[in-house]
Amino acid sequence: MNGPVRHLDHATLVGYSAGALPVAFAAVVASHLELCATCRAQLQAADAIGARLIEQQEGAPLSATARDAFRARLEGELIAPPPAAPMQRQADPDLLPTPLRPWFGERYSTLRWRAVGPGIHLLRAQNDVLGAQLMMLRTAPGRRMPLHSHGNNELTLILRGAYDDVLGHFGPGDVADLDADTEHQPVTSQGVPCICVAASDAPMKFSGWIARAMQAVLRL
Ligand SMILES: [Zn+2]
Repeated sequence: MNGPVRHLDHATLVGYSAGALPVAFAAVVASHLELCATCRAQLQAADAIGARLIEQQEGAPLSATARDAFRARLEGELIAPPPAAPMQRQADPDLLPTPLRPWFGERYSTLRWRAVGPGIHLLRAQNDVLGAQLMMLRTAPGRRMPLHSHGNNELTLILRGAYDDVLGHFGPGDVADLDADTEHQPVTSQGVPCICVAASDAPMKFSGWIARAMQAVLRL
């Protein structure tokens, strides 16, 4: 199987390395890392630089919080688990990526989807510790997803299926690292439903036909 072709922004990886991302974002990042050797290598480089910086800054006025967060992530203490080694990748296609299991459960087959519109199902993780919204979205094949833009950042990982939008084609393992100005309306590929997991640090604003239903669910 080929690896993902759309990767994490460097800034996102550095933020993850420093333990500075909200847990919801860290869970999506760690899930991509589980699937992506390219980003795992980048993370190792970022970790090495971060470790050196911290050594140099010992006793200097670097924020103790930042230092502790970085250490916690390196030592695997962060709530979102560190990425699994590639050899440990499970053959069972029903298993969710390890970092998502604390929030959504172990298996795709037991997810309790909530219908929010024709062909569209949503599942939202509820926990204050997430620090941002974390949700899974399942969209039927060949369907136009609701047009939406973001008040701030959104990080989406495609788990199954694929979609196309103004930015191009996104398949399993690919990430879309979007900023506040992007308005997009993905169209899912034919074949299997598209399942994504997304972290967002502001409520999405929907402007399409399904707006009210989605908005109502997201406010729950
Ligand atoms: Zn990657």
